[in-house]
Amino acid sequence: MPVIHVALDVPVNTLFDYLALDTTAQDIGVRVCVPFGKKQMTGVIMGVSTRSLIPSSKLRHATHIFRDIPPLSSSLLDLFRFCSTYYHHPLGEVVMNGLPGRLRSIKPIVADPAASQYRLTPMGYAISLSTIPARNIVKRRLLAGLKESGIMHIEEVKQLSRRAPAVLKEFMMLSWVEETVATLPSSAASRSEVTSPGPVLTADQESAVNNVAAKISDFNTWLLHGITGSGKTEVYLQLISLLLRQGRQTLVLVPEINLTPQLEAIFRSRFPATQLVSLHSGLNPGERVNAWLQAQRGEAMIILGTRLAVFTPLPKLGLIIVDEEQDISFKQQEGLRYSARDVAIFRAKHANAPVILGSATPSLESYYNALRGRYLRLHLSSRAVKNATLPAVRCIDTRAAKTKEGFSAPLITALEKCLTLNQQSLVFINRRGYAPVLLCKSCAWTATCHRCASRLVVHLREKKLRCHYCGHQERFPSICPECGDQDIAPFGHGTQRVEAALADRFPEARIVRIDRDSTRRKNAWQKILKDIQEQRVDILVGTQILAKGHDFPNLSLVSILNSDASLFSTDFRASERLFAQLMQVAGRAGRATISGEVLIQTEFPDHPLYQALRRQDYGSLAQTLLAERKSAGFPPYVYQALLRAEGLQIDTVLDFLARAAAMAKAPQRIEIFDPVPAQMARLKGMERAYLLIQSGSRKQLQEFLSVWRAKLDTLSAQRVRWVLDVDPLEF
Ligand code: ADP
Ligand code: ZN
Ligand code: ZN
Repeated sequence: MPVIHVALDVPVNTLFDYLALDTTAQDIGVRVCVPFGKKQMTGVIMGVSTRSLIPSSKLRHATHIFRDIPPLSSSLLDLFRFCSTYYHHPLGEVVMNGLPGRLRSIKPIVADPAASQYRLTPMGYAISLSTIPARNIVKRRLLAGLKESGIMHIEEVKQLSRRAPAVLKEFMMLSWVEETVATLPSSAASRSEVTSPGPVLTADQESAVNNVAAKISDFNTWLLHGITGSGKTEVYLQLISLLLRQGRQTLVLVPEINLTPQLEAIFRSRFPATQLVSLHSGLNPGERVNAWLQAQRGEAMIILGTRLAVFTPLPKLGLIIVDEEQDISFKQQEGLRYSARDVAIFRAKHANAPVILGSATPSLESYYNALRGRYLRLHLSSRAVKNATLPAVRCIDTRAAKTKEGFSAPLITALEKCLTLNQQSLVFINRRGYAPVLLCKSCAWTATCHRCASRLVVHLREKKLRCHYCGHQERFPSICPECGDQDIAPFGHGTQRVEAALADRFPEARIVRIDRDSTRRKNAWQKILKDIQEQRVDILVGTQILAKGHDFPNLSLVSILNSDASLFSTDFRASERLFAQLMQVAGRAGRATISGEVLIQTEFPDHPLYQALRRQDYGSLAQTLLAERKSAGFPPYVYQALLRAEGLQIDTVLDFLARAAAMAKAPQRIEIFDPVPAQMARLKGMERAYLLIQSGSRKQLQEFLSVWRAKLDTLSAQRVRWVLDVDPLEF
């Protein structure tokens, strides 16, 4: 009897063998329900053979093979295998985590009933009506109905009998019936449809489009380096349009925070008759699986999504775009710690298709690859809208111009001027809440989270203290719990405090705060965007949510508060990130025909980072940072991996890491550092530490990790949870 090798969502790096009647190599990539211990689990068939290392008397039988949707393609399975190998993560977890929740359940999928239609499988057709006992009226009726009409809509099924939908499910379990989602009538027309042509391209845009178009059928990694407002989106649109004419799919990956209705709307209005699906965390499970299926069937031609979308099946894949490629939300920070950008590059290579990494401030890794000629650089050096120029950037030295409630006099004057001119301004402070610290002035006590190594943030309006790492919240104390003094007060500034200060200073201004708290409710962000667009807002106060991708045509002033702290961080990527963030925020000003100004309040106006920002000179800062990285031996000049561990006691965690290091027997060219506590040394009650491994050779690092990983599995790790993090971004 055939043996199937099944990937299951368990933290062991092996496939599990089961007996399964009537399976052939055609079933590779099909989901299967199997007994695992005392439960039933769904997995994916990765291989079919006639033998197993386990004696057949001990093998159990698969419970059910799902043939409700086509099998996962071999190229998708290869992508999962690559991730498992490269990230040294159990294959079963990689495969199952890459699938929508509905496909992981032990039930067959029932897609959106409104759109669903059902038809018999070949097996279902072969069932003769006479084999069904006459008393099973509904079964007979349904089978007869399906045979007669070929395809039935759920509504038609319901008309047969109230019990018919349940019977339909039963038929699906038996693999007699399969679901086909009704295609939109417009989809057939999509290929022939003439899409609106878009604006006349700038010379930079045209050359970028032509360069990629000339090699549209080859794998290359293109770095589309374009200043803010240079029209990168238009380059994407032109290339997508080319792919649509060839009947090929484009995958567009965007950062978590950037998946705004705005971008989706731009795509939809340019390609109104093309099926576009958008995959992000806001979808319910039914919507997600439907979108996934449309992509798998090759009907959805544009797939727009956040990092997880990189695992969408794409039979006609022709192009991948990663917008804002430097964004850290492309890296998953738990479980399988993959970088969607890097996986996208592997995927494009495998599909022999181009991949475009777009950014105004590329990650140093990507920039370095472009300098070395491994990536091909495309440069957009001016703003796309006629006469729109880059904003002038100035620093306000707060050692000379003292601040009051966070604002210096020159900044207040500039805001005032905007108000009189009826232009919008933006105040950027990357910290939500009222104040980051609650401080006792007599004994210097600060409120901290008992579960994390973090301070509690003051949320004054709700009279709460909140941990921004674990969500813990508590009441505002009335006296200092340490010394009993009443003189406890918020210290420092967050968005709420800045908003309050502005409201105080400009009572007539319409101020809106934009951070995770104010945009949490569904559609809140959309409403705010509309208010901004329709000029019902004078001053925007917000965090990085504001920084990305939005077009605010009437915005002329951007001011930046409290960014100095990141200049002296211990994280070697802090400068790179701060620069990217500030360039992005600065880029919101003067995007249309109003010229813009950016004011930075700082005590270090001569810092090279602010100097580079003033000149909007990514290149020179990148050179400086690369030189620093080279001499310090940091990426991109070395490749890194972390063994992360956490447990209730820091000693057990460090002890585990020390034992892991001791058994590593690292060859030459692999450096292993001492175990150290993580930057967030405690999170949600768990003590955390890591071991850093690095090498100048990616290949050697990979070889070492494979051998070491197998040994780690044998190491007793009682009361410690560990994971390997390849190419870590956080420490
Ligand atoms: P980026 O993503 O590079 O910051 P966008 O793609 O958002 O820039 O484009 C900035 C603005 O320029 C948008 O309003 C867009 O409609 C406009 N734009 C893009 N290309 C052109 C063009 N060739 N001619 C006129 N306007 C353009
Ligand atoms: Zn005190
Ligand atoms: Zn906490």
